[in-house]
Amino acid sequence: MTQPIKMTANQLLASDHQKPFKVYAARHLERIPQVQALPANMRFEMQVIANVLPFRVNDYVLENLIDWGNIPDDPMFRLLFPQREMLAEDDFSLIADLIKRQAPAEQLAQAVETVRTKLNPHPAGQMELNVPIFHRERVQGLQHKYRETVLFFPSQGQVCHSYCTFCFRWPQFVGDKDLRFASKESDELLRYLKHHTQVSDILFTGGDPMVMKTANFEPYLRGLLKPGLEHVQTVRIGTKSLSFWPQRFVTDPDADDLLRLLESLVKAGKHVAIMAHYNHWRELDTPMAHEAIRRLRSTGAIIRSQGPLLNHINADAEVWAKMWREQVRLGIVPYYMFVERDTGAQHYFEVPLAKAWEIYRTAMRRVSGLARTARGPSMSASPGKIEIQGVTKIDGEKVFVLRFIQGRNPNWVQKPFFAKYDEQATWLNHLKPAFGAKQFFYEAEYADMIAHRQEILNELEGEC
Ligand SMILES: *Cc1c(COP(=O)(O)O)cnc(C)c1O
Repeated sequence: MTQPIKMTANQLLASDHQKPFKVYAARHLERIPQVQALPANMRFEMQVIANVLPFRVNDYVLENLIDWGNIPDDPMFRLLFPQREMLAEDDFSLIADLIKRQAPAEQLAQAVETVRTKLNPHPAGQMELNVPIFHRERVQGLQHKYRETVLFFPSQGQVCHSYCTFCFRWPQFVGDKDLRFASKESDELLRYLKHHTQVSDILFTGGDPMVMKTANFEPYLRGLLKPGLEHVQTVRIGTKSLSFWPQRFVTDPDADDLLRLLESLVKAGKHVAIMAHYNHWRELDTPMAHEAIRRLRSTGAIIRSQGPLLNHINADAEVWAKMWREQVRLGIVPYYMFVERDTGAQHYFEVPLAKAWEIYRTAMRRVSGLARTARGPSMSASPGKIEIQGVTKIDGEKVFVLRFIQGRNPNWVQKPFFAKYDEQATWLNHLKPAFGAKQFFYEAEYADMIAHRQEILNELEGEC
């Protein structure tokens, strides 16, 4: 890969860097010049997987992030391009055979559907429990899992500038309509927020809300300045655009408008937090990325970083240490290290919890205090965000020390609890309570919550 050369802001604004956004979906795989140079069997394998899992790349990531001299091991290649091992052997063969035989489209679609269903498309029960009920109606496009924070999925922000192969929201990108959280209106959001004064944070997420034109994003953001919404202190925007299309903040025609909009929120007294998704320091390592970060920070917004720990991409303490150091240098605040969720190609990306904690701890040891703001490794599970705090021995029993960073009941937060040590466990459902306990401390209450919720839903369904 060519080393990024130092460029001035003016050089970045020059025509060479003003290339329009050009995107390739699965059906365009063979048209990607860099892919055409790859061996035929690898291209076919990618085609097979791209039928099942989401695929989308753009020119910027192809030309600036991927090291085409190091295929298939390059971490950015594995982040963006489907790999054969992402599907189980028999699922892969099923789809591959149908494609080879040029089976009828309907038959292929059916097989694809079967395989997708096996990949746990509903992790953490997010459809059932997180969609709020307000005035006896389910509010679509909104999730309210933790007291202070509401997630909002703008209907126009349901894609990303490129797709990550590990994405836990993958079903919404492969056209599963039931899983789209799209919301119709900003009105409904504002109405909901007005009535819920305990909400201090609104988090725009997707897809990637930064794929929206500034003019489309503006009504949502400006609406938050209306009277009656003073309790909403923080406007968070979850995005991967600083990695996948930093031009959004530099050379896009409405980049300046976006920056002015964010600045006006800051001036009106809101905290604007850009929740940037990063998996590897390489994403930070281009002149365009640097300029995007610099410009965003100049608005008064704070950039925080989060991302999952992934086998084949960043399961290495030095990658995290270098990424966090680099982020601090660029003015980004490290926030979360996540455990890869139990969905999609999890078997390909998963890292055992014990190893995840070792990587976290080793990386932490290598950075200064300013980079130790990253919490984790954390599992975003249905009861809440659960952090592996460590491994220790108590009364001769080897245990994981856990805590809730976020819980459906805020009373659960920050209480240490213990699970039997299990070297292989990769997710919460593999963990058993330590010291002979039958359940973790929160489980009975959590079961009550689900039962209560089900009662409400049954009642509502009875009404219509
Ligand atoms: C992580 C998360 C939040 C935000 O939690 P913080 O710990 O405040 O960052 C809100 N809602 C959901 C569903 C989340 O997963």
